[in-house]
Amino acid sequence: MIRFPKVNLHTHTTYCDGKESVESMIQAAIAKDFVRLGFSGHVFNDFRPEDQDIWCMSPERTQKYIAEVRAMAEKYKDQIDILCGIEQDFCSSVSTEGYYYVIGSVHYAEKDGQYYCVDESPAVLEAAIREGFGGDPYALTKRFFEMEAEVVKKTNATFIGHFDLVTKFNEGNRYFDPMDKRYRNAALEAMDALIETGKPFEINTGGMYRGFRTEAYPSIQLLKDLKARGGEILLSSDSHDGQSIGFKFTEAAQAAKEIGFRTVKVFGKDGWSDFEL
Ligand SMILES: [Zn+2]
Ligand SMILES: [Zn+2]
Repeated sequence: MIRFPKVNLHTHTTYCDGKESVESMIQAAIAKDFVRLGFSGHVFNDFRPEDQDIWCMSPERTQKYIAEVRAMAEKYKDQIDILCGIEQDFCSSVSTEGYYYVIGSVHYAEKDGQYYCVDESPAVLEAAIREGFGGDPYALTKRFFEMEAEVVKKTNATFIGHFDLVTKFNEGNRYFDPMDKRYRNAALEAMDALIETGKPFEINTGGMYRGFRTEAYPSIQLLKDLKARGGEILLSSDSHDGQSIGFKFTEAAQAAKEIGFRTVKVFGKDGWSDFEL
């Protein structure tokens, strides 16, 4: 049993790469006794317009997204608190003004003006390592975490999305060893820079739900590092369908507690509150 309010602020819909409508996601959250659901459509990737309407929202679509989330917030206001947020990509320069909150996320490792997506597919990741980083996976993870270190500054994020997304296809250490110094030094440097901003890190169970990972983002090891360094956490399920809302929140909360976290942060209309785990 979780003792804090059931809230998920990382939610996608058919406006970007989610599988269900805004309303269908809201109904799923109500059925799971969530008190608050925040939508976080993928911001328009103005640096890669070919992504629009595939997995990020075109400017026109963004307007429709905002209007629909607002209308649904009104329609369901007696049953659940609905917030309109955005998942801002590090590389996008589209404004995030007017949203309730911003998730700061790195999905691409940029090199010499090229953008290499780290969470699209193993083939795309392999091509990125080969073509962008001279065949060295640690050069790619280093660049990823250099960008991650700046993600709050760059996106003005309310919280930090999937800190180690670069491990999405690395189950079984297929491409790199996260205990290797080259990986760890880069990750911990980014973590320290982000802790300094005072923004919490999400424990994101979406990669587990979709079968890519056996651990949440960040990994248990990085979560231990985060605790040791004084970082703070919230839970989110990075939901692309209704069924996944709150996926393994109980287990994630338990794991955080075992690592030594005492509290989890919950965001709402009055800002952040802390709840005991
Ligand atoms: Zn993301
Ligand atoms: Zn997301």
